[in-house]
Amino acid sequence: MMNQANTILNNVFGFEQFRESQEAIISNVLHKQNTLAIMPTGGGKSLCYQIPGTVFDGLTIVISPLISLMQDQVRQLNELAIPSCVLNSSLSDIDYQNNLDGIKQQQIKLLFLAPETALQTNILDLLSNCDVACIAIDEAHCISEWGHDFRPEYRQLNRLIECFPTAVCIALTATATPRVREDIKRQLNIVDTSEFISSFDRPNLFIGVIPKDNPYLQCKKFVEQHPEQSGIIYCQSRKGVDELTSKLKLDGFSVLPYHAGLSSIKRSEYQERFIRDDVNIIVATIAFGMGINKPDVRYVLHYDLPKNIEGYYQQIGRAGRDGLAADCLLLFGYGDTGKIRFFIEQMSNEQEKRLANVHLNQMLALAEAEDCRRTPLLAYFGERSVKENCANCDNCTGESKEKSDLTVPAQKFLSCVHRTGQRFGASHIIDVLRGSSAEKVLQNQHNLLSTYNIGNEFNKKQWMALARQLIQKGLLNQEEQFGGLKLTQKAADVLKGKVPFFALLQQPVAASCHASKIQSNPGDQKLVAILKVDRKRLADEANLPPYAIFSDRTLNEMAYYFPHSQENLLRIHGVGQAKLDKYGEHFLALISDYCQQNNIDEVANTQTASKATVSKSKSKSSSSSSNASSRSAEIVSAYQAGQSIGSLAEQFKVKSGTILNHLYRYAQDGHKFAQPTLLLEQSGLSQGQIDLALAAFAEHSHERLKPVYDALNEKVSYDQLHLLRIYFVNQLAE
Ligand code: ADP
Ligand code: ZN
Repeated sequence: MMNQANTILNNVFGFEQFRESQEAIISNVLHKQNTLAIMPTGGGKSLCYQIPGTVFDGLTIVISPLISLMQDQVRQLNELAIPSCVLNSSLSDIDYQNNLDGIKQQQIKLLFLAPETALQTNILDLLSNCDVACIAIDEAHCISEWGHDFRPEYRQLNRLIECFPTAVCIALTATATPRVREDIKRQLNIVDTSEFISSFDRPNLFIGVIPKDNPYLQCKKFVEQHPEQSGIIYCQSRKGVDELTSKLKLDGFSVLPYHAGLSSIKRSEYQERFIRDDVNIIVATIAFGMGINKPDVRYVLHYDLPKNIEGYYQQIGRAGRDGLAADCLLLFGYGDTGKIRFFIEQMSNEQEKRLANVHLNQMLALAEAEDCRRTPLLAYFGERSVKENCANCDNCTGESKEKSDLTVPAQKFLSCVHRTGQRFGASHIIDVLRGSSAEKVLQNQHNLLSTYNIGNEFNKKQWMALARQLIQKGLLNQEEQFGGLKLTQKAADVLKGKVPFFALLQQPVAASCHASKIQSNPGDQKLVAILKVDRKRLADEANLPPYAIFSDRTLNEMAYYFPHSQENLLRIHGVGQAKLDKYGEHFLALISDYCQQNNIDEVANTQTASKATVSKSKSKSSSSSSNASSRSAEIVSAYQAGQSIGSLAEQFKVKSGTILNHLYRYAQDGHKFAQPTLLLEQSGLSQGQIDLALAAFAEHSHERLKPVYDALNEKVSYDQLHLLRIYFVNQLAE
């Protein structure tokens, strides 16, 4: 059976090999052993039930608490030609009935249900007539009262499981303390040997922390290092989200806000626009992220300090699910620490207060770490980091961070704290040291102190960095409410010259772009951009997120190997038979055109030869290694000779949309059609409609059809718009 699983991995999903522990988990499930899989976000949990679900003869029920995630998976599975559906109250009557019929007729392989739906009598009745082979329980920590997200409906899932004694059960979660794990195993009859725990390390995430000294500029610089990429910026408050969103918008970034203060309609609209790559950046509170599994989020920026590692880890985990490099940056300011401590102080329950402090200190240990950041991060999950140097965090990759003897400046600073009465924050102390005539300095007569104007060797930023280090190393305590600095015993020793003070003068001011370190963009980026435009267009037309068509990694590999044949396209990561049939022709043509224009040859790709078996029955009419470009020429000349779109589609055994794409590209390349008005006639539209549509193209550009489709109130079909667009572009050509 594992052979079958491997074949599906290769031919349906288009992946080369299983990830760590996926193979063991899938094998265990296929052997009908109840299984618990604990894997970090992005670890590849879905495959652990999707593949058994495809191998088993009967039905696989997937229980998941989030409707949007279920729908996303259903879309992706159907794109892979694995029949799947969801049953819930948001479906139209017709869709609901169709799905019911599909289940009854045993056409559906995977059925996604929310726990409360699964327990409804009518659904239990329906399922009792089905051959249920497997029950997968996603987010299984919801089953345990000890978990952070207990859901009573999960407890009742036993009722469902008992109905199908021969079905195997797999529980999956990304977060589970030992207590929760025991609870899940006990409730679902899982033996210890069937528990699989993967490492929580996400090696593709670059983890960086910089001192927060000019947050907006730092944020802007970071975002600018990731042009056109999807990213999430987390802020602590709704107000913070709104303000940052407006600033970024003013600076011309493609950005939307997300927080619980927005209506649920707005929230789901903004989330959808992010998923569909209509907008690059989401600025959000922690309310954002649960319901999305967009694989190509390339960065997560923490504008404010998270309260604990659990949240921080969950949020950075939303980056780089596709395994490609992603950049995580935390802006770390002591002011934020003060704010969190202040909130903790307000807690009335002593136990909660203590716990919150412990959590904050763990987070601070990560933010202040001088060695690998993965050490405190993984320690939180009870793991020891295997390597001393992870090579993918700022501390491990940092230029030699040699510490210098800063005893004298430290003494100046501490002495100034002492002389100003241990009441002021770092900023005021620095003003005094640097001889500022700010009102606050003069008012307090601090210009008369012996420490006034003795610190011009450093600029303000450098002094700030020193102050942070004095706090971090325990020479100064920061008073929680107003941020006043106080000396500790350690400070006294340095002041008296008993102990020297060594530190880094200034940490790097901005993390640089690390995305290239793990081969994330191996491909020709010009071609990737071309492929992305078409991916987006196809996605809009099919009402899918772009990643459901091909992942970024897939496009990058296409633009690295430049496959010219179906056989070689199948060797590309993420291209299986179903995707090949649907989109192969189209992308081959784009690649081939690009190669011709730029004199590029195909690059031999021997990695995944096992996958490259174009099934005879499905391969296209002409030979599988046909040169897509010559086919394009053939199609255009047949069209010019008067053959209709429909008959061309039939002859070349492709969809009419593909024929239209060939014609569109021909026009885009600046060629003229002999009889352009034919295109208008073939659209079957009235002159009035044609005029409106052409005006809409002029207004919205012709790059994408969706805005034009929307502008015409969805009255003109995509096929018709395709035709008109070719005409429009043809008229533009000189
Ligand atoms: P999780 O549910 O654990 O958060 P997913 O199941 O959504 O993670 O998987 C994350 C990403 O990794 C998806 O884009 C998925 O297609 C990809 N993936 C999973 N397994 C493999 C594999 N063996 N090879 C390549 N990509 C994989
Ligand atoms: Zn490291």
